Amino acid sequence: MKTYQEWQALRDTISLHSEAYINGGFTPAQSGETFDCINPTDESLLVKMASCDEADVNIATSVAKAAFKSGVWSNMAPGKRKRILQKWADLIEAHQDELALTDTLDMGKSISEMVNIDVPDSIDALRWSAECIDKLYGEIAPTNPNNLALISREPLGVVAVITPWNYPLMMVMWKIAPALAAGNSIILKPSEKAPLSALRIAELATQAGLPNGVFNVLPGFGHTAGKALALHHDIGTLAFTGSSRVAGMLMQYAGQSNMKRVWLEAGGKSPCLVFDDCKDIQAAAEGAAAAIFTNQGEVCIACSRLYVHSSIKEEFMAALINAAKAYVSGDPLDPKTKMGPMVDKAQLDTVHRFIDSALADGATLALGGVREYQAGQGFYAQPTIFTDASHKMEFVREEIFGPVLAVMTFDTEEEAIALANDSQYGLGASVWTNDLARAHRVSRLLESGMVWVNTWGDGDTTVPFGGVKASGNGRDKSWHALEKYTEIKNTWISLK
Ligand code: NAD
Repeated sequence: MKTYQEWQALRDTISLHSEAYINGGFTPAQSGETFDCINPTDESLLVKMASCDEADVNIATSVAKAAFKSGVWSNMAPGKRKRILQKWADLIEAHQDELALTDTLDMGKSISEMVNIDVPDSIDALRWSAECIDKLYGEIAPTNPNNLALISREPLGVVAVITPWNYPLMMVMWKIAPALAAGNSIILKPSEKAPLSALRIAELATQAGLPNGVFNVLPGFGHTAGKALALHHDIGTLAFTGSSRVAGMLMQYAGQSNMKRVWLEAGGKSPCLVFDDCKDIQAAAEGAAAAIFTNQGEVCIACSRLYVHSSIKEEFMAALINAAKAYVSGDPLDPKTKMGPMVDKAQLDTVHRFIDSALADGATLALGGVREYQAGQGFYAQPTIFTDASHKMEFVREEIFGPVLAVMTFDTEEEAIALANDSQYGLGASVWTNDLARAHRVSRLLESGMVWVNTWGDGDTTVPFGGVKASGNGRDKSWHALEKYTEIKNTWISLK
């Protein structure tokens, strides 16, 4: 890991792309419009970025469709496709510091997290998907002997990928790696709040040998470029990560256009349950703090609702507040920093709007909550904890996407499960108990795509990631993600 001074020196030399990437090259938006990419740490201008809209979507879609139909990638020998994706992963690894720095500058995440989590996880997702390519076999159905029924998997065509800003590189790679491995062509619209790393990896893909037109990147806003992609008739599948509000809109756009498949990884309001049989209160408190303050709380699986058994509340709260104090804000380029700034002023304002509503609704402020913002000094929010919260309060029900925790108590297992499930969301849940039977019982009853027992947030490329209810319908990572980007075909041959 580089030192703070070394990261600062690299920042002063890094060059960032500011144009769309279409058909293997950089190009300005057709309209000539741009938007500002701002460093949230000091509010300086990073680049004026091409602002793509429907005109650019139409061009990129015809390029991606032509690439798909030509078979240059979709019909390439699987072993060859695998080697290109592996070479791409090697190039990303060779540029890992540059990519880590790019996302930190773009959205404020700590450089340590980028180096230790986002970049290696992204490379792993790409390598794992690449390895799958020449290991996918078709099936022969056990029909009667007069027939031969072949079941094969085919790529879908042009896949549009729309991603958020909180894990810019990683959210992109979780989708494009399996989609490309399956042989599709891609148009990626990264978040307008963090589009930079996507453009750099597109350039590296071309260097690795990915044919032109197979992977295109359109920076731009959701209501322009994103909406045009979602309504386009030549896009067969839309893979989305972002808020539940926009996820719902995308389903409507699909219905209004060509009924494209829509895979959604959406928002969350995840619960953390701490039972009285939890042996290591210190570990539970540190886990609960990590679950809400990691990445400034800008995490879809953030456990922003915490339920602790009333008999251990006092001891647990003391440990939790102590653990929360470790999340000191600072320059995210300093490897010691655990909390960087929020992505932008709008997100900081959202956090404080919810803090104000919690206070107005009668919750008790146990830590943080003070607005310290000064123009030009970065969009920093404090780790904030409220007790005496209830499900009637807006900040307990709505996703905040910031470092704000609501603490509540329960007396029975049934009550804990009912409270945890009383949410429109169902993404993740964290359960702290030393009773094995309870761990299984509770995990089974939680309405959640993912449950962590005695930990939070751990994962692996081999394990699916996704939610239920308003948290989405898709899964990233693992074989289950790859499957989403293929179509099943059966071919029935009469042998008579
Ligand atoms: P967002 O929904 O505002 O934006 C996500 C993407 O959708 C962006 O690229 C945006 O430009 C685009 N978009 C916005 N309006 C659009 C429209 N009308 N048509 C098409 N595209 C449109 O979300 P965000 O603020 O970027 O990200 C935060 C959200 O993402 C949180 O809700 C978080 O929980 C969620 N998230 C979920 C996961 C997961 O795996 N479930 C992972 C990370 C983030």
